[in-house]
Amino acid sequence: MPQYDFLIVGAGLYGSVFAHEATKRNKKCLVIDRRSHTGGNIYCDSIDGINVHTYGAHIFHTNDKDIWDYVNSFVPFNRYTNSPLALYKGELYNLPFNMNTFYQLWKVKTPQEAQTIIQQQIEDLNIGEPQNLEEQALSLVGKDVYEKLIKGYTEKQWGRSAKDLPAFIIKRLPVRFTYDNNYFNDKYQGIPVGGYNKLTEGLLKDIEVRLNVDYIKERATLNNLADTIVFTGQLDEFYDFQFGQLAYRSLRFEHEHLKDTANFQGNAVVNYTEREIPFTRIIEHKHFEFGQQPTTVITKEYPKEWEKGDEPYYPVNDDTNMQLLKQYQQLAAAETKVIFGGRLAEYRYYDMHQVIGSALAKTRKLFEES
Ligand code: UDP
Repeated sequence: MPQYDFLIVGAGLYGSVFAHEATKRNKKCLVIDRRSHTGGNIYCDSIDGINVHTYGAHIFHTNDKDIWDYVNSFVPFNRYTNSPLALYKGELYNLPFNMNTFYQLWKVKTPQEAQTIIQQQIEDLNIGEPQNLEEQALSLVGKDVYEKLIKGYTEKQWGRSAKDLPAFIIKRLPVRFTYDNNYFNDKYQGIPVGGYNKLTEGLLKDIEVRLNVDYIKERATLNNLADTIVFTGQLDEFYDFQFGQLAYRSLRFEHEHLKDTANFQGNAVVNYTEREIPFTRIIEHKHFEFGQQPTTVITKEYPKEWEKGDEPYYPVNDDTNMQLLKQYQQLAAAETKVIFGGRLAEYRYYDMHQVIGSALAKTRKLFEES
């Protein structure tokens, strides 16, 4: 008899929620992670009392009250509202695209004036059903917004022409004809008070975790430990890349601790939307939690293509990779002892609330409660 009901590979959000839910139902779980800490990419380092989002900015938002109540049951969330700025050739613009942005671009003050300009630009382009990200963006916001605030950012973020990217990526960006700089449309958003590690610690409380354990290297022995494996790592790596590698975008972060500066940019997120600047954004972490520390930590985010050894951040859901994914998914569907879940195993551009929702739905179904 194996010692555990579940061996959960990966202590990120999917693995932690799964482990929590299974443990609640009296299942015995072991969580392992190849990293030296839990939390996956929501993990934060603490520098001078500032929670630094080590693997990139994470801002929690959801429309789902159950998910909001769920995360708040582990740690209260603050009232942080994401209102990023975009810097393009020395000019600052508000995001997401709203009346403030349109005033900054064209000096228009009324929604009607802004709509007229955008409508005119869209008509001039004469695009039918959008086939890619560029067409999708152009037919939503017209040429000016696209060229100043989308094209450069998107192409450096993805390392591909906007014409070769799927349209859905840009659907994340709202367009509004009100003076509202709130990036998200969701009812609920915020940052855990005291940082994201509190959320992970809450989820994994009293659950056995082993760090610095590499499942891929040690799977022969690890598989004997449990009835079921919950794998949250890269699906292609699970199958030894046998059909080839799924593409990811990776990121390189340059963290700087500015010891003589209390407030570097006055906002948590400033996007650099021109192509010529190699990083996509600068994050100033203290502003996520309204920090009053005498120093500050900033992070420049440089996108790059993923190579073995890099952290895989964003799946590249273009046609080629979706085809390759299907081949791996066929192998996955035939597994009887393995559950695949989360951003890497599902190869999906998931937000945190979606990962949590997916793990909750999975456990509910598994334990037949839905
Ligand atoms: N985007 C853009 N300009 C911006 C911010 C975002 O064109 O200033 C586009 C870009 O295509 C990006 C997508 O919107 O890939 C989603 O960006 P967001 O910052 O919301 O996603 P995250 O990287 O935080 O998941």
